[in-house]
Amino acid sequence: MRREDYMRRAISLAADNVKEKSGGPFGAIIVKDGTIIGSGVNTVTSDNDPTAHAEVNAIREACSKLGSFDLQGCTLYTSCEPCPMCLSAAYWAKVDRIFFAADKVDAKEAGFSDAFIYEEIPLPYSERSLHTERLLGEEGKEPFELWSGSDDKIPY
Ligand SMILES: [Zn+2]
Repeated sequence: MRREDYMRRAISLAADNVKEKSGGPFGAIIVKDGTIIGSGVNTVTSDNDPTAHAEVNAIREACSKLGSFDLQGCTLYTSCEPCPMCLSAAYWAKVDRIFFAADKVDAKEAGFSDAFIYEEIPLPYSERSLHTERLLGEEGKEPFELWSGSDDKIPY
């Protein structure tokens, strides 16, 4: 299959998800060595899970199928430019590349704007609309000390 074929699959998943009323108009697939190893649609409303975006669902399925938290060698095809959460998930998963179809301007026109999150991230905590405050900073270092001293940890 060509890149365009994989993308049409992701777009088709997004359209079907709307018709089936399972969630938002988003679909994604993960491809490794020419095989689709994960696919996902937005299931925020049907699963009552605000993190259940198409890309996150596809990453979860691909990782489960591979039995790994590492998606190096994989490509993410998504029907829409990833939001900050999904973009971050793609980085954490270490996919090789991302292809998207609709962009964030298209998403905004449909009522899915994530621009405010991008605007919030560089702000000082005190200026964010979501109250964010450091608490027990010194005690919060204890898990890191345990991690650093652990001989059988699994780095990722
Ligand atoms: Zn997302």
